[in-house]
Amino acid sequence: MNKKKRFETMLIHKGYSSQDFHDSLNPPIFHSSTFTFSTAEQGEKRFAGEEEGFIYSRLGNPTVRVLEERMAALEKGEAALAFGSGMAAVSAVLFHFVYSGSHILCSRGVYGCTFGLIGLLHKKFGVIHTFNPMQTAEEIEAAIHDQTCCIYVETPINPTMELIDIRLVTDVAKKYGIPVVVDNTFCSPYLQNPLELGADYVIHSATKYISGHGDVIAGIVVGKNKEDMQKIRMTTQKDIGGIIAPFDAWLLLRGLKTLHVRMDRHVENTRELANYLKSYPFIEDIIYPGNPNSPYYFFWTIIHLKPLSNLFG
Ligand SMILES: *Cc1c(COP(=O)(O)O)cnc(C)c1O
Repeated sequence: MNKKKRFETMLIHKGYSSQDFHDSLNPPIFHSSTFTFSTAEQGEKRFAGEEEGFIYSRLGNPTVRVLEERMAALEKGEAALAFGSGMAAVSAVLFHFVYSGSHILCSRGVYGCTFGLIGLLHKKFGVIHTFNPMQTAEEIEAAIHDQTCCIYVETPINPTMELIDIRLVTDVAKKYGIPVVVDNTFCSPYLQNPLELGADYVIHSATKYISGHGDVIAGIVVGKNKEDMQKIRMTTQKDIGGIIAPFDAWLLLRGLKTLHVRMDRHVENTRELANYLKSYPFIEDIIYPGNPNSPYYFFWTIIHLKPLSNLFG
């Protein structure tokens, strides 16, 4: 089986086995806040993490678990966590890293509410930050402090469409042992897998392409390392509590099934639209990395070859 088939097959099947659920083609929606234990001893073991099983839906839910396993596989990570919004995902990850007096090194542009959160962390807790273009290793290195707790990269940047070479950032970060978080919302795992490029965490506003139907607000974090993800699950996810509802997780599982088809069409439509707009003399600029004059054209090309590389392994 080639890789492309695997990606498309995973979109539909990963993390779910119908035989476990009365042969139901689709995963059931487990609208249960709490799960029961057969004995007090069993409850004790589950709370202690000595036995697999669900306890309380803020700590895990069977429908949500299917989504998490699917997203972990699509982003080539070891584990994933689903959240009630993209911003709940961003805040759980940032709160995991920051401490008072620490420093976030952030890409020059980020989603407006991420910008707002980073400002809030400064105002309330003294967490400082630097916004950096991240176009050369020198400028990234020059912005690293002793207290830099994470490097936060959004690429493509919403809405400026600037691109950042993830490998360039992770190569510098590795020298200093600093974790790299990438907001991959605008590419989706179909076009870019930041973990393969050396990042440690990937964030999605699943509200966008993961859902694809405009009917749910949700977020996803995928991590390279299972143990680190478990720490986030049991601290900043559990204790801040920005979890996803089982029904919303189910909607995302349904949306994901067509991700490859939708992304191909988005790419094609954007190319057509950019070409069409070019013929209008009153349009001054088209911000589109697929334009050969764009400084990001090279990376745009690499990103758009990704589905091809999936096809040929
Ligand atoms: C929308 C968006 C977010 C925030 O996600 P919500 O689901 O709206 O909370 C974060 N990052 C990017 C790049 C986005 O486009």
